Amino acid sequence: MALESLVDRIDAVLPQTQCQACDYSACRPYAEAVASGQAPIDRCHPGGQETLESIANLVSVDPSPYLQGVLDQYRPPTTVRVDLDTCVGCVKCIQACPVDAIVGAPKQAHVVISALCTGCNLCIEPCPVDCIEIVPHDGSGSNNDAMREQSRSRYQAKQARMVRANQSKTENYLKAKQLIKRDLLV
Ligand code: SF4
Ligand code: SF4
Ligand code: SF4
Repeated sequence: MALESLVDRIDAVLPQTQCQACDYSACRPYAEAVASGQAPIDRCHPGGQETLESIANLVSVDPSPYLQGVLDQYRPPTTVRVDLDTCVGCVKCIQACPVDAIVGAPKQAHVVISALCTGCNLCIEPCPVDCIEIVPHDGSGSNNDAMREQSRSRYQAKQARMVRANQSKTENYLKAKQLIKRDLLV
């Protein structure tokens, strides 16, 4: 199987929470590392036994030595909720959310859209007033095909937007530098 195709197939069985519990920056980089033999098959905490067995099947590895560890580290689907009375509207959680599941304007209370939230918990640590709490997922959880596809495409969209924003920042910086240089030469 071509490496790219194997990456796609591994990525397809990952939960797409983008939680970084595998010590990779998102699901896709973990899929790439597994496909190239650089990462073991047991690092996906939210994936549990189902994901372990699917990856093992794709890379032709026996999953049984990994099973107990995966069961021990399994993290069931959750979502998060913002305490609206405590939120100071700093937008740090919006910046941290890999799938744009939080809405809110600066200095106003922020709200989590639970149907979009993957339960990655990446918004919790940046919150300066500790007003985001983990709650049980109210739906079928993140590890189903529809949710996976939604989370993957929202993650990709956010990544693309960040690349464009960084490019624009660099262009603005270079333009400003040229203007300063030109003014100094006049
Ligand atoms: S769901 Fe989390 S732990 Fe699993 S592959 Fe994706 S980023 Fe890694
Ligand atoms: S709201 Fe928080 S827990 Fe939910 S996806 Fe966004 S960063 Fe992750
Ligand atoms: S990081 Fe915390 S305080 Fe800041 S907007 Fe998000 S929930 Fe509100």
